[in-house]
Amino acid sequence: MSPRQAVTILGATGSIGRSTLDVVSRHPERFDITALTANSDDKAMLELCRRWQPRFAVMCDADAAQRLAERIDSETTTVLAGHDALSTVAADESVDTVIAGIVGAAGLVPTLAAAGAGKRILLANKEALVMSGQLFMHTAHDNHADLLPVDSEHNAIFQCLPTKTAHDEDYPGVDRILLTASGGPFRTWAREQLEHVTPQQAVQHPNWSMGKKISVDSATMMNKGLEIIEARWLFDISVDRIEVVVHPQSVIHSMVSYVDGSVLAQLGNPDMRTPIAHALAYPERISSGVEPLDIFEVAKLDFEKPDTDRFPCLRLCSEAIRRGGTSSIVLNAANEIAVEAFLDGSIAFTGIPAIIEQTLEQATITEDIDTIENILEADRAARQLANELIMVH
Ligand code: NAD
Ligand code: MG
Repeated sequence: MSPRQAVTILGATGSIGRSTLDVVSRHPERFDITALTANSDDKAMLELCRRWQPRFAVMCDADAAQRLAERIDSETTTVLAGHDALSTVAADESVDTVIAGIVGAAGLVPTLAAAGAGKRILLANKEALVMSGQLFMHTAHDNHADLLPVDSEHNAIFQCLPTKTAHDEDYPGVDRILLTASGGPFRTWAREQLEHVTPQQAVQHPNWSMGKKISVDSATMMNKGLEIIEARWLFDISVDRIEVVVHPQSVIHSMVSYVDGSVLAQLGNPDMRTPIAHALAYPERISSGVEPLDIFEVAKLDFEKPDTDRFPCLRLCSEAIRRGGTSSIVLNAANEIAVEAFLDGSIAFTGIPAIIEQTLEQATITEDIDTIENILEADRAARQLANELIMVH
């Protein structure tokens, strides 16, 4: 029998982290949890540590780390504090697989550390790739890190793409990628209605149960824009060959269109445990706990073109990737700040794209994207600018 995969989960207390642990719990002979990390919820972390007995538990918040350390069995689990410890457990020698399940820019440095250490990386944290696509892909390639997409659309595309050998410049026979989007909870709403969307309405996704930030991103369709950028880097394909298809049932998770007219699609119930199980066991298949798709129950699949007038975030993302340089970093930072401001009631739902657009217009865009220091500096400056714009909004 092969030895068990030693797994670090970055963002263990979140939606992706918990779905991963659910799949892992079904296959104790395959996986061993080495490290779990969380931001500040020490109570949730204590429960997870009691259940999983990891060698390391990281809390980014120092007070939370202190509280956890007081209550945990220190013989089994060592508690580490602070953001640097995320990279330590992502790159630790004993670790095989890292689940990148932190939300937002905070996930970048540890995910990059996993790439630098040549780990098998299950990537959910799309913001890391949006910010550092070129640097991240080079680092992963140079250090022989295996990158497996967990984002459901990218996992679907990965499953539908043909194998690309080192000699192939492009995926043989592929014409385009059809990236599906549910359209979010406001797909059919008029522009005037969107101005009055409340945070509570925005975090209620019709098909998926997810963290707050990605739920708001799905409602603005920023999530789909970020996913265009994610696909561009993951599959090294130009944005002109990525088409967004609104598909409200979220049964098809994306498609690949070939030059002979074939279109391959991956279908399944909307449950992240499917792509997570696929990536955890790849190239094998394991059970995930997801109910089999009842195709007769589904019965009908709809497809629509996206409306970039009502959902301008999609357009902003395409523009940012075409403009290049630090634009995607600025776009992502402005979005994170704007989403927080929307959730705390400082701006309207329609203020989110407005703040992103203004930040992109006013930020200094440079070509300095080769080092993590430059990327983090562009992120910091864009956050400051976005915050200033929110104050005068
Ligand atoms: P979540 O909010 O449920 O969980 C986020 C996790 O990250 C938590 O464990 C939290 O403690 C940790 N975290 C938050 N801020 C942090 C910080 N500053 N420093 C360190 N740790 C921090 O989020 P989620 O829905 O699980 O999403 C995680 C990532 O996966 C996001 O990038 C999201 O876009 C992506 N993703 C999620 C889903 C989904 O179904 N939830 C689907 C596809 C992609
Ligand atoms: Mg997705």
